[in-house]
Amino acid sequence: MKRPLRRRRPAGSWNVFWRWSGEEESTAMHVLVAEDESRLATLLAQSLSEAGWVVDVRHDGQAALDAALGRTGTTYDVLLLDWMLPVLDGLTVCRRLRQVGVRTPVLMLTARSAVADRVGGLDAGADDYLVKPFDLDELLARLRALHRRASGEEDDEALRVDDLLLDPGARRTSRQGVEIELSAREFDILHLLMQRAGRLVSRSNILDEVWDGETDLRSNVIDVHIAGLRAKIDRPFGTHTITTLRGAGYRLDHDSG
Ligand code: CA
Repeated sequence: MKRPLRRRRPAGSWNVFWRWSGEEESTAMHVLVAEDESRLATLLAQSLSEAGWVVDVRHDGQAALDAALGRTGTTYDVLLLDWMLPVLDGLTVCRRLRQVGVRTPVLMLTARSAVADRVGGLDAGADDYLVKPFDLDELLARLRALHRRASGEEDDEALRVDDLLLDPGARRTSRQGVEIELSAREFDILHLLMQRAGRLVSRSNILDEVWDGETDLRSNVIDVHIAGLRAKIDRPFGTHTITTLRGAGYRLDHDSG
């Protein structure tokens, strides 16, 4: 039996394909498109939507940065950033994301083809780039490749936020070199929060990924586990790393003391 869909789609998502495909939402891939040329933005949204992606579009760099940081409640699998954007350029958006530990794969679009620009983009933390004008099939193939690479690497890679370490392969956690014993659920929640460090992780994300949807949003089971995590990873060390965003979810940040 299919479990009921709990999450509401964010306004403005191109989710028609997903909604009627009968698939569960967790299989849908979310892409954020930051492109200020409205005709190209519309074309990209339509093409990506037809290819099965859930697409959100932003028209300037600041709006794109806010969305990529999870401030609008959506977590993206891939970011498609135009280099030349109003307010903040794509390179700056990418650099700021990497500075706060957001590792979402970035495909940079650029009208320039100079080698120096390419190097600048990769230095800023972009994973790939495509020179305009580009072929749509090529774009789709690059996005799929980035997403595959990211989701394949993600699960076993050791993660670090400040002095907090988590090694999924060995299922071990430590802070300041001190080993921390976590329950299986606590470990999985912390893993999720660290994978998305600096970004909102919604309560429904946690239920989907840690409980596989086997409980519901009204339950206080997440709160209980978050309290347990804080008692183990923060309190003994005098740190504060998990922020509660009331009614939305949680975010793991660099220690704010
Ligand atoms: Ca542009």
